[in-house]
Amino acid sequence: MRKLVILGSGTAGTIAANKLRRLLPRDEWDIAIVEQQGTHYYQPAFLFIPFGKYRAEKSKKPASKYIPAGVTRVSASVEKVDPEAKTVSLSEGTTLEYDYLVIATGTTPRPDQTPGMEDDWHGTVHSFYTYDDAVALRDKLADFEGGRLVIHITEMPIKCPVAPLEFAFLVDDYLTKRGLRDKTDITFVTPLPGAFTKPVAAASLGGMLEKRGIVLESDFMVESIDNNKHAVVSYDEREVPFDLLVTIPLNMGADFVGESGLGDELNFVTVDKQTLVHDTYDTIFAIGDAANIPTSKAGAVAHYEMDLFPENFVKHIAGKEMTEKFDGHATCFIESGAGKGMLIDFNYETQPLTGSFPFAFMGPLPLLKESRFNHMGKVGFEWAYWNLLLKGRPIPMSPHLSMSGKVVPSDD
Ligand SMILES: Cc1cc2nc3c(=O)[nH]c(=O)nc-3n(C[C@H](O)[C@H](O)[C@H](O)COP(=O)(O)OP(=O)(O)OC[C@H]3O[C@@H](n4cnc5c(N)ncnc54)[C@H](O)[C@@H]3O)c2cc1C
Repeated sequence: MRKLVILGSGTAGTIAANKLRRLLPRDEWDIAIVEQQGTHYYQPAFLFIPFGKYRAEKSKKPASKYIPAGVTRVSASVEKVDPEAKTVSLSEGTTLEYDYLVIATGTTPRPDQTPGMEDDWHGTVHSFYTYDDAVALRDKLADFEGGRLVIHITEMPIKCPVAPLEFAFLVDDYLTKRGLRDKTDITFVTPLPGAFTKPVAAASLGGMLEKRGIVLESDFMVESIDNNKHAVVSYDEREVPFDLLVTIPLNMGADFVGESGLGDELNFVTVDKQTLVHDTYDTIFAIGDAANIPTSKAGAVAHYEMDLFPENFVKHIAGKEMTEKFDGHATCFIESGAGKGMLIDFNYETQPLTGSFPFAFMGPLPLLKESRFNHMGKVGFEWAYWNLLLKGRPIPMSPHLSMSGKVVPSDD
């Protein structure tokens, strides 16, 4: 029997387990999946929990419910991979052998990596990137009576890079409805030169911050959080004071990736951006947020990758060329408040553009433009996530970017 081991049972690992179990003959292949936590979280819901718009418990379900029969579940944390011996060391002291390894351990917020960030965690310093953080922020916001609210990104890349902007739009709406907006100064602090990474989207999203009276503090490389002054401090000695800080801590891949010599300086696995195979070991792949590919870290990317990767994997183990090439395609809804949303669609080569997106059932949806349909698309996707996506069932969206409906700027 040949052995395939999948590390991580989040979005990408769960879809891979479902699709690969269907493709690989059971009398030839053992498949095991290593789960650090028995709970599967629908992370996009973490954006809504702080505003009391979404019941927190609804975002979590038992991970086991989504792992198919015929896949062995191993409850443990991965401590190290030995890519020469082809073994995985686990927290419980056991070792797994593999013929092929798929790393799907995602990215984790690491407040411990910025001096001072953890010292007043859940006091004046908050986040919404984990379940516990989103719930703590919900309780903090419920007691908030106005003041200086700072939304802060430590460093790129982060998962769902639009989520901090969405938070800014939603908190503006939330405070307006509670009659507190006039008593609150909101500042958006980012290491980027603008509101977002790419020019067309940055201009559009920056304009939306301005329209809402949210100050943009750009090119801000944080050095520390000063808990005496209650300020975010940059390397070039700028200080942004806050009464409430909502930060996105440094996002890093799992520690074992670095310790096993498989990743970059942030522990993201170094892979080929089209085939997701490791750049040194052709028995190792990385999927989802764990990979260091130059596109967004998003569930949508994991979804598109998983439309291509399983067929490639089957070709690879048969000694054939991997002909499916992932183009970095990402499709992200952006909540803009007041029941509206925007949509961006891009890949490695094409930045988010205006125009329209062909979407089954509700489409076409407007790109980079606020609409109620985009909001409904975002909210409605949760059903598809639990019932179709995780189980590896088809969703009628092409894994490759389509230029149909997109408006290309004349100087692009
Ligand atoms: C606030 C927020 C909003 C978001 N909104 C959107 C959105 O609207 N649209 C969108 O497309 N994406 C969104 N995302 C991003 C999306 O949730 C992730 O990109 C997606 O879950 C990535 O899937 P993954 O499998 O790579 O990682 P994950 O789903 O995070 O899974 C990683 C798994 O690996 C496990 N793991 C980690 N280390 C180890 C270890 N050492 N040993 C064993 N297991 C380990 C973890 O416990 C976890 O179960 C959002 C994320 C957040 C935080």
